[in-house]
Amino acid sequence: MRCVLVSKRLDLRRYYGAELARIAPRVEVVDHTADTPAADVRLALAWHPPDDAFARYPDLQAVCSIAAGVDNIIACPSLPPDVDVIRVVDPGQAQLMSGFITWNVIGHQRGFNAFRNQQRDRIWQRREQRRAQEVPVGILGNGAIGQQVARDLAYLGFPVMSWSRTEKPVPAGVRGFHGPAGLSAMLGETEVLVNLLPLTFETRGILNAKTFGRMRHGGYLIQVGRGEHLVEDDLLAALDSGQLSGAALDVFVTEPLPQTHAFWYHPQIAVTPHDASDVSISAVATTVAATAEAVRAGQRPPHAIDRARGY
Ligand code: NAP
Repeated sequence: MRCVLVSKRLDLRRYYGAELARIAPRVEVVDHTADTPAADVRLALAWHPPDDAFARYPDLQAVCSIAAGVDNIIACPSLPPDVDVIRVVDPGQAQLMSGFITWNVIGHQRGFNAFRNQQRDRIWQRREQRRAQEVPVGILGNGAIGQQVARDLAYLGFPVMSWSRTEKPVPAGVRGFHGPAGLSAMLGETEVLVNLLPLTFETRGILNAKTFGRMRHGGYLIQVGRGEHLVEDDLLAALDSGQLSGAALDVFVTEPLPQTHAFWYHPQIAVTPHDASDVSISAVATTVAATAEAVRAGQRPPHAIDRARGY
């Protein structure tokens, strides 16, 4: 069975070639070129595929992402409707994400940004020390990553709420919300809002003026989902009005973030380059190997997403 590597952004062979050979030796890995033989290409490993990428492979049965998200793959116009799309579920990634979110939640709680500014101006000024219990955190998304983040923040003493599409169990010490009514209820109590949603037709633009307006005044946004979740002008307006006191942004509509973008210069915005948490190279190769096994056996691959739902 052949697996074609398809990306207009990354040299997938350079990152994953060696590990694929080690973990999935029965899969022949080929590059997506004009000369790639199409026969028996039943798998693809893809990240931001070119629009026409999948049209060349009539035997294609499954496309694996290199990440937890699959939005850039299902948006590809040449992806046939009956092909399975597989995401990576990597506990190590959830742990990395939890560290990243915790750093930002505590940064807001303890005013790290203000300390940095004080140091720049050589000001010795102690700050009010707010307890974790005084800073409620609302998490959009109660999935593989959201659950780990919720568990860890609750362990540190933060009042944690998490929101999902359907009613779902939540980790001990966490309050669960679901559906549109649940979102309103959760936002009404939220000071720090963490976005860990997949990008779908339902979640696009969810970080908007209405959402920010329902949060506690002076709240904080941690945006690690996808750039298209955020209405950028609404964030700038919420910061100007004081409804939000700051934001940590890791994902953007245009990546890399253009040099002239207002976010780079905003004193209340912390920018990171889509670096909150990666899946490991071996988790990607393991996902390809498991997908190949399932395709060989005529079964649905593990972690295949629901194409109609979009995640
Ligand atoms: P996941 O396991 O698929 O969980 C998704 C969660 O979102 C589920 O709880 C789901 O609800 C909820 N959800 C989906 N649509 C919803 C809607 N319309 N309304 C309310 N809740 C909705 O995903 P994951 O592995 O935790 O990853 C989440 C996302 O994080 C990824 O898709 C990606 O966009 C982002 N991410 C970013 C980075 C980074 O470095 N910045 C790294 C990893 C992941 P149900 O439980 O009811 O299905």
